[in-house]
Amino acid sequence: NDARKKVAECLGAAISEVMFTSCGTESDNNALLGIFDQLSIQKGSHIITTTVEHSAIRKTCQYLEKMRGAQVSYLPVDHLGRLDMDQYKKSFRKKTILVSIMAANNETGVLFPIKELCHIAHEKGVLFHTDAVQAVGKIPVNVQDLDVDLLSLSGHKIYAPKGVGALYIKKGIPCQAVIKGGTQEKGRRGGTENLASIVGLGVAMERIQKCLKDETPIITKLRDEFESNILKTVPNSHINGDAHHRVGNTSNICFRGVEGESVVLSLDLKGISVSSGSACSSGSIEPSSVLLAMGLTREEAGASIRFSFGKGNSQEDVCEALKTIPKVVEKLREYSPIQLS
Ligand code: PLP
Repeated sequence: NDARKKVAECLGAAISEVMFTSCGTESDNNALLGIFDQLSIQKGSHIITTTVEHSAIRKTCQYLEKMRGAQVSYLPVDHLGRLDMDQYKKSFRKKTILVSIMAANNETGVLFPIKELCHIAHEKGVLFHTDAVQAVGKIPVNVQDLDVDLLSLSGHKIYAPKGVGALYIKKGIPCQAVIKGGTQEKGRRGGTENLASIVGLGVAMERIQKCLKDETPIITKLRDEFESNILKTVPNSHINGDAHHRVGNTSNICFRGVEGESVVLSLDLKGISVSSGSACSSGSIEPSSVLLAMGLTREEAGASIRFSFGKGNSQEDVCEALKTIPKVVEKLREYSPIQLS
């Protein structure tokens, strides 16, 4: 109860509007499936989402299309990862029941104008869900201000334990339980809750306001300093995504002429952990679908690295990375078959 109160307070929600889950993926699944099951009375109910969502949304939408007869519009983004508002407005149909658009992209950090997007959906009488897994803890997120109907968050992005998340469900919004079987979480999710992790999530949410005030500016400064130096010292490198509308901890950089995986491995040997594409899909050698959706070539997407900064990082870490990365990239380019013009 105490943790639920802390989560609710941090989000500006009522206590009864917070449902605990096992992770962000479950929150996303429950939002889409729960609303679909409740509202899809006719065949062909329509959902609007984007081409750059996390796989928790993308794969659930694909499942709904294939197995449940849903129609889904995947809205494209431009080369900076931004949505076209006119296209968004035109994508609503008579059978549209739900919009699901992420608050911040997990690979580029690019922010979406959730308040505005939600307002447009509501004008059309359509419910709005946002996957705020990458936004909570990095920018202020208040459900009343945004007016969203459902919002997903995940513990491990905000220094809570892994394996816990939450779904905000606005009072009165009909959302079916996906995990059936018990009366926990007001009957919205069967199964015994992971109490210890939930307590951890409560503590993490309680600390967010202080983090946003004290730590986010420091992390953002480290990221910006890192980026501007890298762009100066590594030729043929550029930032992926809208550099002016991003969360402060993410930097996605394309080092043309190298293979991202080789950069990841070389830096790992030197004690620097980065990811190519999305960390959630590491192990996959396909270039990032987010970067491809932004119009990068396969070569550029495959040569892109995501750097994430957190409160464990120091100025020394950044100095070390700035010394190491240019050398690693230069060396890998020597062996690369790709000729840079
Ligand atoms: N949504 C976004 C935007 C994410 O970045 C992630 C994880 O990285 C998820 C959903 C899934 O969250 P979890 O790892 O808690 O399942």
